[in-house]
Amino acid sequence: MVHEQDIAQLFARIDASRDDLVALTRDLIRFPTINPPGADYRAICDFLGARMSAHGATVEFVRAKGVPDDSDEFPRWNVIGRFSAPEPGPCVHFNSHIDVVETGLGWTVPPFEGVVKDGRVYGRGACDMKGGLAASLIAIEALIGCGLLTRGSLECSGTADEESGGFGGVGHLARNGWFDRGRVDHVIIPEPLNPDRICLGHRGVWWAEIEITGAIGHGAMPFLGVNAIAGMGDLLKLIEEELMPRLGNRVTAMPCMPEGARRATLNFNSVHGGQPEPGDGRPSPVVADRCRLVIDRRYLVEEEFTEVKAEIIDLLERVKSARAGLDYSLREIMTFEPTMTAPDAPLVKTLDHWIERLFDRPATLIASPGTYDQKHITRHGSVRACVAYGPGILDLAHQPDEWVGIEDMLMSAKVMAAAALTLLRADAEGA
Ligand SMILES: [Zn+2]
Repeated sequence: MVHEQDIAQLFARIDASRDDLVALTRDLIRFPTINPPGADYRAICDFLGARMSAHGATVEFVRAKGVPDDSDEFPRWNVIGRFSAPEPGPCVHFNSHIDVVETGLGWTVPPFEGVVKDGRVYGRGACDMKGGLAASLIAIEALIGCGLLTRGSLECSGTADEESGGFGGVGHLARNGWFDRGRVDHVIIPEPLNPDRICLGHRGVWWAEIEITGAIGHGAMPFLGVNAIAGMGDLLKLIEEELMPRLGNRVTAMPCMPEGARRATLNFNSVHGGQPEPGDGRPSPVVADRCRLVIDRRYLVEEEFTEVKAEIIDLLERVKSARAGLDYSLREIMTFEPTMTAPDAPLVKTLDHWIERLFDRPATLIASPGTYDQKHITRHGSVRACVAYGPGILDLAHQPDEWVGIEDMLMSAKVMAAAALTLLRADAEGA
Protein backbone atom coordinates (compact mmCIF):
# COMPACT_ATOMS: atom_id res chain seq x y z
CA MET A 1 0.00 0.00 0.00
CA VAL A 2 1.29 3.43 -0.92
CA HIS A 3 0.46 6.12 1.65
CA GLU A 4 -0.29 9.71 0.67
CA GLN A 5 2.28 10.98 3.15
CA ASP A 6 4.97 8.83 1.50
CA ILE A 7 4.09 10.31 -1.89
CA ALA A 8 4.08 13.85 -0.53
CA GLN A 9 7.51 13.28 1.04
CA LEU A 10 8.82 11.69 -2.18
CA PHE A 11 7.64 14.51 -4.42
CA ALA A 12 8.98 17.17 -2.04
CA ARG A 13 12.35 15.46 -2.08
CA ILE A 14 12.41 15.36 -5.90
CA ASP A 15 11.46 19.05 -6.06
CA ALA A 16 14.26 19.85 -3.62
CA SER A 17 16.76 17.97 -5.81
CA ARG A 18 16.21 20.26 -8.79
CA ASP A 19 19.75 21.70 -8.73
CA ASP A 20 21.24 18.25 -8.25
CA LEU A 21 19.21 16.94 -11.21
CA VAL A 22 20.44 19.76 -13.45
CA ALA A 23 24.05 19.27 -12.33
CA LEU A 24 23.82 15.51 -12.94
CA THR A 25 22.38 16.02 -16.43
CA ARG A 26 25.17 18.47 -17.25
CA ASP A 27 27.82 16.10 -15.91
CA LEU A 28 26.47 13.30 -18.13
CA ILE A 29 26.38 15.53 -21.23
CA ARG A 30 30.04 16.45 -20.64
CA PHE A 31 31.07 12.88 -21.52
CA PRO A 32 31.18 12.99 -25.35
CA THR A 33 30.02 9.38 -25.73
CA ILE A 34 29.60 9.58 -29.51
CA ASN A 35 28.71 6.34 -31.27
CA PRO A 36 30.16 5.41 -33.65
CA PRO A 37 32.91 4.91 -32.62
CA GLY A 38 31.63 4.42 -29.04
CA ALA A 39 33.85 6.87 -27.15
CA ASP A 40 34.24 7.41 -23.39
CA TYR A 41 32.00 4.53 -22.31
CA ARG A 42 34.27 3.47 -19.44
CA ALA A 43 34.55 7.03 -18.13
CA ILE A 44 30.79 7.59 -17.96
CA CYS A 45 30.28 4.11 -16.46
CA ASP A 46 32.86 4.90 -13.75
CA PHE A 47 31.07 8.17 -13.01
CA LEU A 48 27.66 6.45 -12.75
CA GLY A 49 29.11 3.56 -10.76
CA ALA A 50 30.69 5.90 -8.19
CA ARG A 51 27.46 7.82 -7.78
CA MET A 52 25.37 4.68 -7.35
CA SER A 53 27.88 3.14 -4.87
CA ALA A 54 27.71 6.31 -2.80
CA HIS A 55 23.95 5.72 -2.51
CA GLY A 56 24.40 2.11 -1.42
CA ALA A 57 24.22 0.18 -4.68
CA THR A 58 26.13 -2.94 -5.57
CA VAL A 59 27.74 -1.94 -8.86
CA GLU A 60 28.94 -4.16 -11.68
CA PHE A 61 30.78 -3.24 -14.85
CA VAL A 62 30.25 -5.50 -17.84
CA ARG A 63 32.27 -5.31 -21.03
CA ALA A 64 30.68 -6.89 -24.10
CA LYS A 65 33.81 -8.74 -25.14
CA GLY A 66 33.43 -10.56 -28.39
CA VAL A 67 30.72 -8.40 -29.96
CA PRO A 68 31.87 -7.08 -33.35
CA ASP A 69 32.17 -3.41 -32.27
CA ASP A 70 34.16 -4.11 -29.08
CA SER A 71 37.87 -3.30 -29.28
CA ASP A 72 40.61 -2.28 -26.87
CA GLU A 73 40.46 1.21 -28.35
CA PHE A 74 36.66 1.43 -28.01
CA PRO A 75 35.58 -1.12 -25.41
CA ARG A 76 31.83 -1.66 -24.99
CA TRP A 77 31.34 -0.99 -21.26
CA ASN A 78 28.05 -1.16 -19.39
CA VAL A 79 27.27 -0.38 -15.75
CA ILE A 80 24.52 -1.83 -13.57
CA GLY A 81 23.71 -0.68 -10.03
CA ARG A 82 21.41 -2.68 -7.79
CA PHE A 83 19.83 -1.13 -4.69
CA SER A 84 18.38 -3.83 -2.46
CA ALA A 85 16.02 -3.59 0.48
CA PRO A 86 16.53 -5.97 3.40
CA GLU A 87 13.31 -7.78 2.54
CA PRO A 88 13.28 -9.61 -0.80
CA GLY A 89 10.67 -8.66 -3.39
CA PRO A 90 10.24 -7.59 -6.98
CA CYS A 91 12.81 -5.63 -8.96
CA VAL A 92 12.14 -2.50 -11.01
CA HIS A 93 14.91 -1.77 -13.51
CA PHE A 94 15.60 1.57 -15.23
CA ASN A 95 17.69 1.19 -18.37
CA SER A 96 19.28 4.08 -20.26
CA HIS A 97 21.70 4.07 -23.15
CA ILE A 98 24.85 6.12 -22.56
CA ASP A 99 25.75 6.66 -26.22
CA VAL A 100 24.79 9.67 -28.33
CA VAL A 101 24.85 10.30 -32.07
CA GLU A 102 27.26 12.56 -33.94
CA THR A 103 26.70 16.30 -33.37
CA GLY A 104 26.33 17.34 -37.02
CA LEU A 105 26.06 20.96 -38.13
CA GLY A 106 23.79 23.78 -37.02
CA TRP A 107 24.59 24.12 -33.31
CA THR A 108 24.33 27.52 -31.63
CA VAL A 109 25.55 26.20 -28.24
CA PRO A 110 28.58 24.01 -27.50
CA PRO A 111 27.22 20.43 -27.69
CA PHE A 112 29.15 18.95 -24.74
CA GLU A 113 28.96 21.64 -22.07
CA GLY A 114 25.42 21.23 -20.83
CA VAL A 115 24.43 24.87 -21.24
CA VAL A 116 21.47 25.81 -19.02
CA LYS A 117 19.05 28.51 -20.15
CA ASP A 118 15.31 29.22 -20.12
CA GLY A 119 14.54 26.18 -17.96
CA ARG A 120 16.30 23.80 -20.33
CA VAL A 121 19.58 21.89 -20.45
CA TYR A 122 21.16 21.90 -23.90
CA GLY A 123 23.62 19.46 -25.40
CA ARG A 124 24.05 16.36 -27.52
CA GLY A 125 22.19 13.61 -25.65
CA ALA A 126 20.29 16.04 -23.37
CA CYS A 127 17.00 14.71 -24.72
CA ASP A 128 18.17 11.29 -26.06
CA MET A 129 18.69 10.25 -23.33
CA LYS A 130 20.96 11.62 -20.62
CA GLY A 131 18.06 13.69 -19.25
CA GLY A 132 16.07 10.48 -18.84
CA LEU A 133 19.00 8.72 -17.20
CA ALA A 134 19.45 11.60 -14.75
CA ALA A 135 15.70 11.69 -13.95
CA SER A 136 15.58 7.94 -13.23
CA LEU A 137 18.64 8.11 -10.97
CA ILE A 138 17.17 11.06 -9.06
CA ALA A 139 13.92 9.06 -8.70
CA ILE A 140 15.83 6.11 -7.20
CA GLU A 141 17.88 8.35 -4.89
CA ALA A 142 14.70 10.06 -3.67
CA LEU A 143 13.11 6.70 -2.82
CA ILE A 144 16.23 5.70 -0.87
CA GLY A 145 16.61 9.12 0.75
CA CYS A 146 13.01 8.96 1.99
CA GLY A 147 13.59 5.48 3.43
CA LEU A 148 10.92 4.02 1.13
CA LEU A 149 12.95 1.17 -0.35
CA THR A 150 11.83 -1.35 2.24
CA ARG A 151 11.19 -4.34 0.01
CA GLY A 152 12.54 -5.65 -3.28
CA SER A 153 15.12 -3.84 -5.34
CA LEU A 154 15.73 -1.08 -7.80
CA GLU A 155 18.25 -1.26 -10.61
CA CYS A 156 19.71 1.40 -12.86
CA SER A 157 21.82 0.56 -15.88
CA GLY A 158 23.80 2.68 -18.32
CA THR A 159 24.33 0.70 -21.49
CA ALA A 160 26.31 1.00 -24.70
CA ASP A 161 25.51 1.13 -28.38
CA GLU A 162 21.73 1.65 -28.53
CA GLU A 163 22.24 3.98 -31.47
CA SER A 164 23.98 1.21 -33.42
CA GLY A 165 21.65 -1.66 -32.55
CA GLY A 166 22.43 -2.29 -28.88
CA PHE A 167 24.42 -5.49 -29.43
CA GLY A 168 27.25 -4.36 -27.14
CA GLY A 169 24.78 -3.00 -24.58
CA VAL A 170 21.36 -4.35 -23.66
CA GLY A 171 21.70 -7.11 -26.29
CA HIS A 172 24.79 -8.44 -24.52
CA LEU A 173 23.29 -8.09 -21.03
CA ALA A 174 20.03 -9.78 -22.06
CA ARG A 175 21.91 -12.70 -23.59
CA ASN A 176 23.79 -13.11 -20.34
CA GLY A 177 20.85 -13.29 -17.96
CA TRP A 178 20.63 -9.71 -16.72
CA PHE A 179 17.02 -9.38 -17.93
CA ASP A 180 15.75 -12.78 -16.84
CA ARG A 181 12.50 -13.14 -14.98
CA GLY A 182 13.29 -13.75 -11.35
CA ARG A 183 16.09 -11.18 -11.49
CA VAL A 184 14.04 -8.34 -12.93
CA ASP A 185 10.26 -7.91 -13.01
CA HIS A 186 9.57 -4.54 -14.62
CA VAL A 187 11.78 -2.53 -16.99
CA ILE A 188 11.38 1.17 -17.73
CA ILE A 189 13.51 2.68 -20.49
CA PRO A 190 13.49 6.49 -20.04
CA GLU A 191 13.75 7.29 -23.78
CA PRO A 192 12.46 10.75 -24.78
CA LEU A 193 8.82 10.09 -25.66
CA ASN A 194 7.23 13.08 -23.95
CA PRO A 195 6.52 12.80 -20.20
CA ASP A 196 2.78 12.01 -20.57
CA ARG A 197 3.14 9.11 -23.01
CA ILE A 198 3.97 5.45 -22.45
CA CYS A 199 5.54 3.51 -25.31
CA LEU A 200 4.45 -0.15 -25.26
CA GLY A 201 6.79 -1.50 -27.91
CA HIS A 202 7.71 -1.31 -31.56
CA ARG A 203 7.15 -2.88 -34.99
CA GLY A 204 9.34 -5.66 -36.30
CA VAL A 205 12.17 -5.01 -38.70
CA TRP A 206 13.60 -7.12 -41.50
CA TRP A 207 16.60 -5.89 -43.48
CA ALA A 208 17.56 -7.95 -46.47
CA GLU A 209 19.85 -7.62 -49.44
CA ILE A 210 18.57 -8.96 -52.73
CA GLU A 211 20.97 -9.57 -55.58
CA ILE A 212 19.73 -10.14 -59.11
CA THR A 213 22.25 -11.66 -61.47
CA GLY A 214 22.21 -11.81 -65.27
CA ALA A 215 24.91 -12.40 -67.88
CA ILE A 216 27.63 -9.98 -68.93
CA GLY A 217 27.94 -9.04 -72.64
CA HIS A 218 29.10 -6.22 -74.91
CA GLY A 219 27.21 -2.96 -74.45
CA ALA A 220 26.89 -2.66 -78.22
CA MET A 221 25.16 -6.03 -78.39
CA PRO A 222 22.98 -6.04 -75.29
CA PHE A 223 20.82 -8.81 -76.79
CA LEU A 224 23.73 -11.19 -76.17
CA GLY A 225 23.71 -10.54 -72.39
CA VAL A 226 21.06 -10.65 -69.68
CA ASN A 227 20.65 -7.33 -67.93
CA ALA A 228 20.33 -7.57 -64.16
CA ILE A 229 19.26 -3.91 -63.86
CA ALA A 230 16.27 -4.60 -66.10
CA GLY A 231 15.38 -7.51 -63.81
CA MET A 232 15.67 -5.22 -60.80
CA GLY A 233 13.37 -2.77 -62.58
CA ASP A 234 10.77 -5.53 -62.83
CA LEU A 235 11.14 -6.28 -59.14
CA LEU A 236 10.84 -2.62 -58.06
CA LYS A 237 7.69 -2.27 -60.19
CA LEU A 238 6.12 -5.40 -58.68
CA ILE A 239 6.92 -4.21 -55.16
CA GLU A 240 5.53 -0.74 -55.80
CA GLU A 241 2.44 -1.75 -57.75
CA GLU A 242 1.46 -4.99 -56.04
CA LEU A 243 3.12 -5.41 -52.66
CA MET A 244 3.01 -1.87 -51.31
CA PRO A 245 -0.77 -1.47 -51.78
CA ARG A 246 -1.23 -4.77 -49.93
CA LEU A 247 1.02 -3.60 -47.10
CA GLY A 248 -0.88 -0.32 -46.93
CA ASN A 249 -4.07 -2.25 -46.25
CA ARG A 250 -2.61 -4.01 -43.23
CA VAL A 251 -3.37 -1.92 -40.16
CA THR A 252 -2.05 -2.84 -36.72
CA ALA A 253 -3.83 -2.58 -33.41
CA MET A 254 -0.56 -1.22 -31.96
CA PRO A 255 -0.89 2.51 -31.23
CA CYS A 256 2.10 3.48 -33.40
CA MET A 257 2.97 7.16 -33.68
CA PRO A 258 3.05 8.79 -36.19
CA GLU A 259 -0.12 7.17 -37.51
CA GLY A 260 1.43 6.28 -40.87
CA ALA A 261 3.45 3.67 -38.99
CA ARG A 262 0.27 1.75 -38.11
CA ARG A 263 0.56 0.12 -41.53
CA ALA A 264 3.16 -2.34 -42.74
CA THR A 265 5.87 -0.51 -44.70
CA LEU A 266 8.76 -1.24 -47.02
CA ASN A 267 11.60 1.13 -47.86
CA PHE A 268 14.08 0.81 -50.70
CA ASN A 269 17.23 1.47 -48.74
CA SER A 270 19.72 1.40 -51.61
CA VAL A 271 20.29 0.09 -55.14
CA HIS A 272 23.64 -0.61 -56.76
CA GLY A 273 23.78 -1.97 -60.28
CA GLY A 274 26.32 -2.77 -62.97
CA GLN A 275 30.08 -2.39 -62.96
CA PRO A 276 31.63 0.20 -60.66
CA GLU A 277 32.58 3.36 -62.54
CA PRO A 278 36.22 4.45 -62.57
CA GLY A 279 37.31 7.91 -61.45
CA ASP A 280 36.71 9.62 -64.78
CA GLY A 281 33.13 8.31 -64.91
CA ARG A 282 33.69 6.41 -68.17
CA PRO A 283 32.69 2.82 -67.48
CA SER A 284 33.40 -0.13 -69.71
CA PRO A 285 30.67 -1.00 -72.23
CA VAL A 286 29.11 -4.05 -70.65
CA VAL A 287 25.68 -5.40 -69.87
CA ALA A 288 25.06 -5.20 -66.12
CA ASP A 289 25.33 -8.72 -64.77
CA ARG A 290 24.43 -7.85 -61.18
CA CYS A 291 22.18 -5.46 -59.30
CA ARG A 292 21.73 -5.28 -55.53
CA LEU A 293 18.85 -3.86 -53.52
CA VAL A 294 18.64 -3.41 -49.75
CA ILE A 295 15.12 -3.37 -48.36
CA ASP A 296 13.93 -2.24 -44.93
CA ARG A 297 10.65 -3.95 -44.20
CA ARG A 298 8.82 -2.93 -41.01
CA TYR A 299 6.24 -5.49 -40.03
CA LEU A 300 3.33 -5.60 -37.67
CA VAL A 301 2.65 -7.71 -34.61
CA GLU A 302 -0.24 -9.21 -36.63
CA GLU A 303 2.05 -10.39 -39.48
CA GLU A 304 3.93 -13.69 -39.54
CA PHE A 305 7.62 -13.33 -40.30
CA THR A 306 7.60 -16.37 -42.61
CA GLU A 307 4.91 -14.61 -44.68
CA VAL A 308 6.90 -11.36 -44.76
CA LYS A 309 9.78 -13.23 -46.32
CA ALA A 310 7.66 -15.50 -48.54
CA GLU A 311 5.94 -12.62 -50.30
CA ILE A 312 9.31 -11.16 -51.37
CA ILE A 313 10.51 -14.56 -52.60
CA ASP A 314 7.27 -14.97 -54.55
CA LEU A 315 7.96 -11.71 -56.42
CA LEU A 316 11.57 -12.73 -57.06
CA GLU A 317 10.40 -16.03 -58.59
CA ARG A 318 8.13 -14.09 -60.93
CA VAL A 319 10.98 -11.79 -61.99
CA LYS A 320 13.18 -14.80 -62.61
CA SER A 321 10.67 -16.69 -64.72
CA ALA A 322 9.87 -13.62 -66.86
CA ARG A 323 13.41 -13.27 -68.26
CA ALA A 324 15.55 -16.22 -69.26
CA GLY A 325 19.00 -16.21 -67.71
CA LEU A 326 18.13 -14.16 -64.61
CA ASP A 327 18.66 -15.46 -61.12
CA TYR A 328 18.59 -14.04 -57.63
CA SER A 329 19.92 -14.52 -54.11
CA LEU A 330 18.74 -13.15 -50.82
CA ARG A 331 20.87 -12.33 -47.80
CA GLU A 332 19.24 -11.49 -44.49
CA ILE A 333 20.99 -8.63 -42.72
CA MET A 334 18.95 -8.17 -39.55
CA THR A 335 15.62 -9.29 -38.12
CA PHE A 336 13.87 -8.17 -34.96
CA GLU A 337 10.42 -9.34 -34.06
CA PRO A 338 7.74 -6.83 -33.15
CA THR A 339 7.28 -6.51 -29.41
CA MET A 340 4.51 -5.02 -27.30
CA THR A 341 3.78 -5.08 -23.59
CA ALA A 342 0.07 -5.58 -22.89
CA PRO A 343 -1.73 -2.29 -22.17
CA ASP A 344 -3.26 -3.89 -19.04
CA ALA A 345 0.11 -5.04 -17.59
CA PRO A 346 0.59 -3.73 -14.02
CA LEU A 347 3.63 -1.73 -15.20
CA VAL A 348 1.56 0.16 -17.77
CA LYS A 349 -1.44 0.60 -15.46
CA THR A 350 0.77 1.95 -12.69
CA LEU A 351 2.60 4.46 -14.89
CA ASP A 352 -0.74 5.52 -16.37
CA HIS A 353 -2.15 6.09 -12.88
CA TRP A 354 0.70 8.38 -11.84
CA ILE A 355 0.78 10.25 -15.15
CA GLU A 356 -2.92 10.97 -14.80
CA ARG A 357 -2.42 12.10 -11.23
CA LEU A 358 0.47 14.45 -12.10
CA PHE A 359 -0.68 15.75 -15.49
CA ASP A 360 -4.47 15.75 -14.87
CA ARG A 361 -5.06 13.67 -17.98
CA PRO A 362 -4.68 10.00 -18.83
CA ALA A 363 -1.42 8.87 -20.41
CA THR A 364 -1.31 8.41 -24.17
CA LEU A 365 -0.26 4.87 -25.01
CA ILE A 366 1.93 4.72 -28.09
CA ALA A 367 4.18 2.34 -29.98
CA SER A 368 7.34 3.29 -31.81
CA PRO A 369 7.73 3.12 -35.61
CA GLY A 370 11.38 2.09 -35.18
CA THR A 371 13.06 -0.23 -32.72
CA TYR A 372 14.96 0.49 -29.52
CA ASP A 373 16.51 -1.68 -26.81
CA GLN A 374 13.16 -3.24 -25.79
CA LYS A 375 13.71 -5.80 -28.57
CA HIS A 376 16.68 -7.35 -26.76
CA ILE A 377 14.93 -7.44 -23.39
CA THR A 378 11.91 -9.35 -24.70
CA ARG A 379 13.86 -11.43 -27.22
CA HIS A 380 16.84 -12.69 -25.22
CA GLY A 381 15.65 -11.86 -21.73
CA SER A 382 12.49 -13.36 -20.29
CA VAL A 383 11.08 -10.15 -18.80
CA ARG A 384 7.79 -9.37 -20.49
CA ALA A 385 6.90 -6.10 -18.75
CA CYS A 386 9.01 -3.47 -20.48
CA VAL A 387 8.05 0.00 -21.69
CA ALA A 388 9.72 3.22 -22.68
CA TYR A 389 8.78 6.20 -20.54
CA GLY A 390 10.84 9.34 -19.99
CA PRO A 391 11.24 13.10 -20.28
CA GLY A 392 12.28 14.91 -23.44
CA ILE A 393 10.50 15.65 -26.69
CA LEU A 394 10.93 12.87 -29.23
CA ASP A 395 11.23 15.23 -32.21
CA LEU A 396 14.36 16.86 -30.73
CA ALA A 397 16.35 13.63 -30.65
CA HIS A 398 19.44 13.66 -32.91
CA GLN A 399 18.81 17.36 -33.82
CA PRO A 400 21.22 20.29 -33.38
CA ASP A 401 20.58 22.32 -30.19
CA GLU A 402 18.96 19.27 -28.59
CA TRP A 403 17.56 20.08 -25.14
CA VAL A 404 15.57 18.65 -22.26
CA GLY A 405 13.18 20.66 -20.10
CA ILE A 406 14.05 20.76 -16.39
CA GLU A 407 10.36 20.74 -15.41
CA ASP A 408 9.82 17.71 -17.68
CA MET A 409 12.62 15.85 -15.95
CA LEU A 410 11.18 16.63 -12.52
CA MET A 411 7.69 15.51 -13.55
CA SER A 412 8.89 12.26 -15.07
CA ALA A 413 11.16 11.59 -12.07
CA LYS A 414 8.03 11.84 -9.89
CA VAL A 415 6.10 9.47 -12.15
CA MET A 416 9.01 6.99 -12.17
CA ALA A 417 9.53 7.15 -8.39
CA ALA A 418 5.83 6.81 -7.52
CA ALA A 419 5.33 4.02 -10.06
CA ALA A 420 8.35 2.10 -8.77
CA LEU A 421 7.12 2.42 -5.20
CA THR A 422 3.64 1.21 -6.18
CA LEU A 423 5.04 -1.78 -8.09
CA LEU A 424 7.32 -2.81 -5.22
CA ARG A 425 4.48 -2.56 -2.71
CA ALA A 426 1.69 -3.97 -4.90
CA ASP A 427 3.43 -7.30 -5.26
CA ALA A 428 3.78 -7.46 -1.51
CA GLU A 429 0.01 -7.64 -1.27
CA GLY A 430 -0.12 -10.43 -3.81
CA ALA A 431 -1.60 -8.15 -6.47
ZN1 LIG B 1 17.59 6.97 -27.48
